Amino acid sequence: MAQRLDGKALANKIQSQLAADINHDSEHRDRPPGLAVLMVGDHPASAAYVRNKERACERLGIASFGSHLPADTSQATVAEIIDQLNQDDRVDGILVQLPLPDHIDAVALLNRIDPAKDADGLHPENMGRLIRGESGLRSCTPAGVMAVLKEYNIEPAGKKAVVLGRSILVGKPMALMLLEANATVTIAHSRTQDLAELCRQADILVAAVGRPNMIGADWVKPGATVIDVGINRIQDAESGKSRLVGDVDFASVEPLAGAITPVPGGIGPMTVTMLLHNTVLSYRKRFNG
Ligand code: NDP
Repeated sequence: MAQRLDGKALANKIQSQLAADINHDSEHRDRPPGLAVLMVGDHPASAAYVRNKERACERLGIASFGSHLPADTSQATVAEIIDQLNQDDRVDGILVQLPLPDHIDAVALLNRIDPAKDADGLHPENMGRLIRGESGLRSCTPAGVMAVLKEYNIEPAGKKAVVLGRSILVGKPMALMLLEANATVTIAHSRTQDLAELCRQADILVAAVGRPNMIGADWVKPGATVIDVGINRIQDAESGKSRLVGDVDFASVEPLAGAITPVPGGIGPMTVTMLLHNTVLSYRKRFNG
């Protein structure tokens, strides 16, 4: 039976440490770290994510500067708010909650964020730093995966890693971080041939596809580490209620994998934690240079 990689427990541990660090830092500085979360429109899942982030900030002693704007807010208005937050000395991290309404050019807004305040690590400068192996703000979900591997002493160096998915948000930075940690990395996507065969070769398999239970036991090498980034809401056939599942069919894969993250309670809580970590990192950098 696979070892369960408990992202929730690790998230709690890191958040407690961050809270202690913030408490210690605040004694010597005139303000706590600050995070601004910008949300445009009423996407229900986004509203829940934003609430989660704001509650986590409150628990840790990070000041929140959220703006919840109506769905018809213009591109120019959101851009102006980002400009103000870039200038605001109380704000160390800025996050634009995705997805944005169709009339808004998300990439232009993400590129407008001061790279030093880019809590989500999605700005081209921070992505470029990742490609070059330079320090910078790392995108949160893949950074959360790397933290889980480290916590459980799963060493990527020399291992074959397969990353399923090539989004800017998860797949691409994930592959780069595993490469940085000296894994031999293959990125797979919707045009990849013989996907199951490719996945079976992986010592570390990361699924970031967004297809419920796509990866079954016959896709996984016995003893492999399986990281399930997917978050999919499905209707339970028996109870009729909706519930969250990953991209990995947990019940069939757990008996043969070496280690596996559950959904929920795996990478999800780590993503929020790395956002808070990035905010504290920017805060310290602003004070210490
Ligand atoms: P995207 O939809 O942006 O990307 C999905 C990727 O999967 C694409 O590269 C796509 O390939 C690939 N793909 C889709 N279908 C298949 C298929 N049948 N076979 C092989 N590859 C396929 O999603 P994200 O990267 O944003 O998110 C992925 C999942 O992770 C989602 O479930 C999302 O909810 C979850 N997520 C979880 C987070 C967390 O905190 N745990 C944070 C962010 C996301 P192609 O490029 O060819 O289209």
